[in-house]
Amino acid sequence: MYILMMGPPGAGKGTQAEKLVAEFPIPHISTGDMFRAAVKNGTALGKEAKKYMDAGGLVPDAVTIGIVKERLSETDCAKGFILDGFPRTEEQAVALDGILKGLNIKLTAAVNIDVPDSELISRVTGRRICKSCGATYHVKFNPPKKAGICDKCGGELFQRDDDKEATVKKRLEAYHSQTAPLITYYKKAGVYKEVDGTQQIDKVFADVVAVVKG
Ligand code: ADP
Ligand code: ADP
Ligand code: ZN
Repeated sequence: MYILMMGPPGAGKGTQAEKLVAEFPIPHISTGDMFRAAVKNGTALGKEAKKYMDAGGLVPDAVTIGIVKERLSETDCAKGFILDGFPRTEEQAVALDGILKGLNIKLTAAVNIDVPDSELISRVTGRRICKSCGATYHVKFNPPKKAGICDKCGGELFQRDDDKEATVKKRLEAYHSQTAPLITYYKKAGVYKEVDGTQQIDKVFADVVAVVKG
């Protein structure tokens, strides 16, 4: 299974990818998570990426394509992967085609989780993440049993810096101008699948599983 999880910020890409890897033992590759790890570790990549992330914009294509190429070339990706949040521009999509060709891999599905903007702001501003294991919660829609504490590991939950309302609006603008056109790109490639992301998390998951097995 070679899967792309597509959709606007807050659509549920990470939530669904987490559920997929629990069922299918393939790596979950999130460019957002890779950039956040680099920021946390204070690397040169992290310092570069942070400028764009804080402003709600996209990290430049050359940088992003480079880290994905390196990651997809690792041996654990040979039998499958879930790419979450990449590609986000046409240039990235074209580069990905080249990388996959070189690895002799054909995409199984590009799954777009469809959610209208009106719901995305409250999803993103209510998102909380576990400091220890990275699990994702929502203060209203997917709350932990005990406020502020991860159900899975007891870790402390926090809010991402870029999940404040002003930055979310910029990220949505970037999505519509730079990323949404990829829907047409993957329709043309014949691998496009869409699920209704406004349903309950488990229902969305059932639809995702159905389209990737499809
Ligand atoms: P979300 O899941 O809310 O859409 P991500 O965690 O995927 O956010 O990404 C966080 C930020 O990291 C993005 O706003 C962007 O600045 C950067 N980023 C992640 N993936 C990419 C990408 N493929 N291209 C450029 N920038 C990216
Ligand atoms: P993305 O990776 O696309 O940015 P996330 O998976 O992090 O999105 O989800 C964004 C927020 O919305 C999180 O707080 C998550 O718990 C919540 N969420 C995810 N899927 C749903 C859903 N189907 N209904 C309601 N809330 C959801
Ligand atoms: Zn945890």
